[in-house]
Amino acid sequence: ISVTDLVEESYNRIEEVDEEVQAFITLNKEAAKKQAAELDQERGNDDAKLFGLPIGVKDNIVTKGLRTTAGSQILSNLDDPLYDATVVNKLNDAKSVTIGKLNMDEFAMGSSNENSSYAAARNPWNTDYVPGGSSGGSAAAVAAGEVPYSLGSDTGGSIRQPAAYCGVVGLKPTYGRVSRFGLIAFASSLDQIGPITRSVEDNAFLLETIAGHDKMDSTSANVEVPKYTESLTGDVKGMKIGVPKEYLSEGVSEEVKEAVKAALKEYEKMGATWEEVSLPHSKYALSTYYLISSSEASANLARFDGVRYGKRAEDAKNMLDMFMRSRAEGFGDEVKRRIMLGTFALSSGYYDAYYKKAQQVRTLIKNDFEKVFEDYDVIIGPTTPTPAFKVGDKVDDPMTMYANDILTIPVNLAGVPGISIPCGFSGDGLPIGLQIIGKHFDEGTVYRAAHAFE
Ligand code: GLN
Repeated sequence: ISVTDLVEESYNRIEEVDEEVQAFITLNKEAAKKQAAELDQERGNDDAKLFGLPIGVKDNIVTKGLRTTAGSQILSNLDDPLYDATVVNKLNDAKSVTIGKLNMDEFAMGSSNENSSYAAARNPWNTDYVPGGSSGGSAAAVAAGEVPYSLGSDTGGSIRQPAAYCGVVGLKPTYGRVSRFGLIAFASSLDQIGPITRSVEDNAFLLETIAGHDKMDSTSANVEVPKYTESLTGDVKGMKIGVPKEYLSEGVSEEVKEAVKAALKEYEKMGATWEEVSLPHSKYALSTYYLISSSEASANLARFDGVRYGKRAEDAKNMLDMFMRSRAEGFGDEVKRRIMLGTFALSSGYYDAYYKKAQQVRTLIKNDFEKVFEDYDVIIGPTTPTPAFKVGDKVDDPMTMYANDILTIPVNLAGVPGISIPCGFSGDGLPIGLQIIGKHFDEGTVYRAAHAFE
């Protein structure tokens, strides 16, 4: 098969299903076809790692010359970005073909894709249901067979939760493992880019390509990138698994509990052992996360003022009016809610009570994980309390929407890696996700555990 055929097949599939699935915001058709023809010329004398493979990129990752909106109207006119994100440079060096930019909740704030200002992407298993978010387009595109690989970003679950809902494999790497240069920031101390794929092997392969130190991102870690594909031995004999009791408590549906317990039985059969452990500060994770992430978002989003970045409102009376109208018109409701919450939490007089307190609790949450990892190799539990919910079900209730990320958020606060892999189906035929969490920079063991189960 030629690269041209492969790329053609991707666009044909998009043509077929994307009117319904709405996974893409922008397609890169002309440039991708041209690149495919060029790659076909070089074929045979090039061993680039992702040679000719079609990939989709979440729309908060900057792509030179290709529209990048972050799901927001305020960036709807960013048609011609001036540079590529570091991960995109790495994809280009590996000679993959960027098929298009994937749908997402605006500025990655959301759990259902319904906060996209373009269209709400749908779950390919049943389009009455949400694909999850915020990387809903990234997970849906892979699940629907539009692209074999995609990139998402995860601040509080935005790779793992949609991967779980769409029955695909999604990894949030250790904080600092992958460069954030060129990722439009939501919450800088939590954001990580990661791969979404159909198999664990593909996932490990893609992480090898995008990971590594980058001098353009001061928080990227100078830690060598192992060959993750070499850890896929199939052997988990003697592996010690911790199962947090907080992850199988009320709020988690019976079907999800059953699926996770069945997975643990499989691990036992393969020679691993598991025991109940505790992450006692998990109950504070949601409030801690919403304080920290909204505070950071309020600062990060200050640059969208119609001058430095963002679409400028027309007919403004004066400069202040221009700033205010550009932001009022350009941002959606959820983004405004977070900016207000974050601005409040950071204001003088409240800083100690909210932001500082949240940072202290964050340390306790991180310590919980480190304590468990003194005795266990991985932590396993569900990715989400329930399978995907129906479109429209939670859209008017931000608190229940937020609660959906209760099992993924602690992982971001601790900075450790976590993967979601499929582990069965609900009675309604919707996928259920198994979450495997590892030690800092130990994606290798996470992949080994995931691959053995798959
Ligand atoms: N759903 C969470 C939020 O809305 C997480 C989003 C994310 O990981 N980007 O903040």
